[in-house]
Amino acid sequence: MNIHDKDTLHECTSCQMCAAVCPKQAIDIHLNQDGFYRPVIDGEKCVDCGICKSVCYKYANIPEYKDVDKLLNYAASAKSDEVVSGTTSGGLGDILCEQLVNEGYLCVGVTYNTEKNIAVDTVAKTREESISFRGSKYIQSYTYDAFKSIVDNHLNDKVAVFGTPCHIFAIDKYLKKRKKRDNFVLIDIYCHGCPSMNVWKRYLEYVNGKTHEKSYDYVSFRSKAYGWGSYYVAQMKKGGKTLFTSPKINDKFYTLFFSDLLLNESCYDCKLRSTMDSTDIRIGDFWGKAYLKNTRGVSLVTVNHASEKGKALFDKVKNKITYKQHPATDCISFQSWGLKYDIESELRKKLFDSLADSRQTIEDTVRILWQSRSLKARLKQKAKNFILLMPRPVVAFFKGLV
Ligand SMILES: Cc1cc2nc3c(=O)[nH]c(=O)nc-3n(C[C@H](O)[C@H](O)[C@H](O)COP(=O)(O)OP(=O)(O)OC[C@H]3O[C@@H](n4cnc5c(N)ncnc54)[C@H](O)[C@@H]3O)c2cc1C
Ligand code: SF4
Ligand code: SF4
Ligand code: SF4
Repeated sequence: MNIHDKDTLHECTSCQMCAAVCPKQAIDIHLNQDGFYRPVIDGEKCVDCGICKSVCYKYANIPEYKDVDKLLNYAASAKSDEVVSGTTSGGLGDILCEQLVNEGYLCVGVTYNTEKNIAVDTVAKTREESISFRGSKYIQSYTYDAFKSIVDNHLNDKVAVFGTPCHIFAIDKYLKKRKKRDNFVLIDIYCHGCPSMNVWKRYLEYVNGKTHEKSYDYVSFRSKAYGWGSYYVAQMKKGGKTLFTSPKINDKFYTLFFSDLLLNESCYDCKLRSTMDSTDIRIGDFWGKAYLKNTRGVSLVTVNHASEKGKALFDKVKNKITYKQHPATDCISFQSWGLKYDIESELRKKLFDSLADSRQTIEDTVRILWQSRSLKARLKQKAKNFILLMPRPVVAFFKGLV
């Protein structure tokens, strides 16, 4: 009985918690051919104890979440310009993390390793260490070392974990099993899905070709170079100098990401982004009509009404933020909550083949995607791009109409 059993209900999320909890160190984490982290079991070491299976989403029945209207949703932004400019939305991830570190919590969050070009979960003890969590890294995170450290060393400490709903689900399941959930604060993000690492690898090759630099000491996946809201912009810096800023439209990484064709398979029908049963607080961008003209950044903070810890934590940071409460129809309705994406399997395979082919570039992969689209879809995209290049109030006006 282990995570290779066939009676699965869902696909693997790449959370890596199975490897962290295995008492025999029988599970290794590898990137598979398509660029997703996957567990590999050493049959010689496995004793069939089933612990890995007990934390795994693949076998979990996720009940429909019925309390959406009871959740406490806030549009919130840090008062500090320094925080908002360095974060993805309104900086609430950073503000909550700062509060928790000050209260003596160890904080687990995602940093970017510029030597290996991967996102990695790390354990921060100090405010300085937690600064590197700022900003979304829109790729899967290598969680194994941090999650193993929680399992082996920190179950009796005060710990806060920030991650995707699938990370938080697995951690929550384990903590409840070990009766340690009370020591923890769990904060997840609104989640559209995570793309293959092969997309990021190819994108970096493309950027290197433009900058003639093999390395960067700063990578921002969602720079606010053109303002928050309409644009998804990647930026690389070295020694404080900006080497690359992607254009407002047609960025190759985001074109492939938002095609939805290169996401992890589990993201297509993910039940975890549509429940708050494992989490105390969920953070995201405040999409919807209310803040279309805002270029600074607004976070959506959803506090689980059933979590006393979540409510108390949000109360404690209120003096550092501006905030306003909103009904779910103003914000959650604009998220991927409850959505299921269609997979065009043949096209998905073609795109993965293109990414795996060293003779092809990311531009070739984008071309394959573009050529697969109908004339109507291509014209629609051109019209959208045309609007995005207009002055910000015009963009906001059209977005409001849509
Ligand atoms: C793959 C992915 C998909 C997302 N999809 C959506 C979406 O559909 N809708 C939406 O509103 N928001 C989405 N977000 C969240 C959004 O991008 C911001 O992370 C969120 O709004 C917090 O920003 P902030 O300004 O409050 O704080 P920040 O300080 O910028 O917070 C960033 C937080 O995200 C964590 N983090 C960074 N990278 C990762 C990662 N790869 N995996 C897990 N955790 C990470 C950090 O540890 C930190 O706690 C997504 C984020 C990721 C990583
Ligand atoms: S979903 Fe997570 S726990 Fe389950 S097999 Fe995949 S990595 Fe392991
Ligand atoms: S069944 Fe037990 S020993 Fe085998 S891989 Fe899972 S946790 Fe490890
Ligand atoms: S959509 Fe679901 S499975 Fe995919 S990264 Fe987000 S939480 Fe994990």
